[in-house]
Parts: sequence; C-alpha cells; structure tokens
Amino acid sequence: MSFRPIFEAHPWDDIKASIYAKTSADVERALAAPRRTLDDFKALISPAAAPYLEQMAQLSHRLTQKRFGNTMQLYVPLYLSNECQNICTYCGFSLDNKLKRRTLSSVEMLAEAAVLKGWGYDHVLLVTGEANQTVGVDYLEKALKTLRPHFAHLSMEVQPLDEADYVRLIPEGLNTVLVYQETYHQEDYKKHHPKGKKSNFHYRLDTPDRLGRAGIHKMGLGVLIGLEDWRTDCFYTALHLDYLERTYWQTRYSLSFPRLRPAEGLLQPKVEMSNRELVQLICAYRLLNEEVELSLSTREEPAFRDQVIKLGITSISAGSKTNPGGYAVAPESLEQFEISDERSPAEVAAMLRRQGYEPVWKDWDAALA
Ligand code: SF4
Repeated sequence: MSFRPIFEAHPWDDIKASIYAKTSADVERALAAPRRTLDDFKALISPAAAPYLEQMAQLSHRLTQKRFGNTMQLYVPLYLSNECQNICTYCGFSLDNKLKRRTLSSVEMLAEAAVLKGWGYDHVLLVTGEANQTVGVDYLEKALKTLRPHFAHLSMEVQPLDEADYVRLIPEGLNTVLVYQETYHQEDYKKHHPKGKKSNFHYRLDTPDRLGRAGIHKMGLGVLIGLEDWRTDCFYTALHLDYLERTYWQTRYSLSFPRLRPAEGLLQPKVEMSNRELVQLICAYRLLNEEVELSLSTREEPAFRDQVIKLGITSISAGSKTNPGGYAVAPESLEQFEISDERSPAEVAAMLRRQGYEPVWKDWDAALA
C-alpha cells in the first residue's frame, strides 16, 4: 500500500486544467458544503475563488477557533549542519555552492540549545542537509540523545530515511518529521534536483508512507511554492494528506507553505504567489481539513504574519536562524535562506497576546503518549 498509484492516477495536466476550469458556482457550492471534498478544494484554490476571500477567511477563522481555540504553538529551527551531497537549485547549502561547511558537535548543540531554552522554547526542529557520511542516521541518533533531555518535542527536517531508520530514531525521542516534496511535477523536480539522493523523486514521494508504517507521531507535508504552478502542487499536497490520514490515522499532520526566498546565487521563483493568494491557500486548506495543523515560518514578513495568523494558522516559528551554530557558536556562517521576520520570540509572543492568543511553547510531552 502506498500513495504512488493514487498519484499516478492523477496526471498533472488534467489536474491543472480542472482547477482552472472551476467557476464561481463551484466556489459557492464548496463554501456551502457541510464537509468539503478534494473537488471542492480545487474550487477554493482556483482563480474563481479570489472574490470570495473575505468569506473564506471568516469561515477559516471560525473553524480554526473551534478546533484549536486561542492557542498558537511556537517552534524554532536548530540547524545542526550545512553539509549536503545534493544539488538543489533553490538552496544555499547546495553542493555546488562554495561555502564553509560546518556540522555541530554535541557540545555545540548544547550551547545552541541553551539559547533556545533561555528564550522559552520546548519544541525545536532539527535541520541538516543530506550527507550520509557526516549527518547520517548515527549522527541523527546522537543529536536526539543529546537534546532529548532538554526539550519536550523534537522534530526533524533532514534527509528522507528508510523505514528501519525511523523505527530506530522514534524511541530516541523523534516526535515529528517534516518531508516536503518540493514539487509534485516530476519533470520539474528533475530539473531542480539534478544530483544526489534527492534526485530520486519516488524515494521522496514514498517517505510519508515509510514514516506512517514506522508509527511516527506527527508528519509535516508541503511543497516549495514558486517552483511550479502553486495551485496544482498544493492540490497534490491535499491529495497526499487525504490518503495518509485514511491510511495512518493514528498519526497527526501539519502543512506548510514556504514561498521561495532569495538565497545566495540562486534562482528566482518561476511562479510568484501574492500575499492574497497565500491567504486563499491557507483558508482553502482549513476549509478542507479542520484538524490539520497549519504552520507559518519566518520566511514571511512581520506585517503579513501578524495579519494572517488569525485565518487558520496554528503554529509559527520566531527568532529563527537558518545557519548551523547561528544562535551561539557560529553566528557568521552562511544561512540556508534569508528570513523576513527578525523579531525575537518575546516580541512575537507579545504580538500574539495582543491579538488574544496564548503562545504555547510546548507542543507535546512524551509522558502523555
Ligand atoms: S534543500 Fe536540502 S537537500 Fe537540497 S541542497 Fe538544501 S539542504 Fe541539501
């Protein structure tokens, strides 16, 4: 059992054409439906839904409040290494980008962790490039063992692993894995990932299945918006989520919608998504799925983040650095991408309180599982 046959039964061009063919009558039907289908989702992300944004936003806000209340989870990335054996056209850590590579030792991880604990964090996202020699499963296991005593929730955004590797890491404190397909457009995927293990589209596509079989507590999906038509790519994300929720129903899910940001010497987005379109997407995800967590990172501008958090978002990062050692041990190293919201976690928490939200620093406790 895997997502692959479902994916193959949905050709890109057909999906794209069906989204762009949606009309205002389809959007109105979707808005009035008690539960929305994937076909309704197509209408809600289509250009035909643009005039209905206010209505979508109100509905999305109400549904999010009903399920999540006035809470907002806070998390922060902890970059452990910028070693990478892949070439990805959009990333500062790409193998062909000449930069000083750095991988944190356990002592350095703890120095970084001390800063994040001092800010109040209890949920960190561990990030590495994809380099088996330096940051393979042994290194990841060491990182989890080192950091687990200090945080209630450890997430990872690292190379896709085999099922047995996930089975090995989960008891070490791995709660959540983020694995973004980047784009579901197979030909464009090849263009953007010409070298390294990541060039294997299907191994990446199968990763959520391996995670589900391994019994992961939570997984995060998404695409990198800007590589291809965002509407079509986000439909596939929704299709993938729909399959996973039905197949691995004990796992929780989150979605992200990173927009391509400038990084040193790298490509500009092929498709630009406006702020209004990102709001449309966030609301459409919420209208499709009342349970899924929606996460917004510091890639987005402060003013936009402040406005949009009420429309469906359930977790945000703050104070992020995207370079290994960025918080304490090597603040000058090269970032993976530039962030837009440079406010401190305390400033973001204060903004949340002003908007009537309670910032939640701890997402989940192993003791409750
Ligand atoms: S996106 Fe990930 S795999 Fe690709 S170059 Fe960057 S760190 Fe490496």
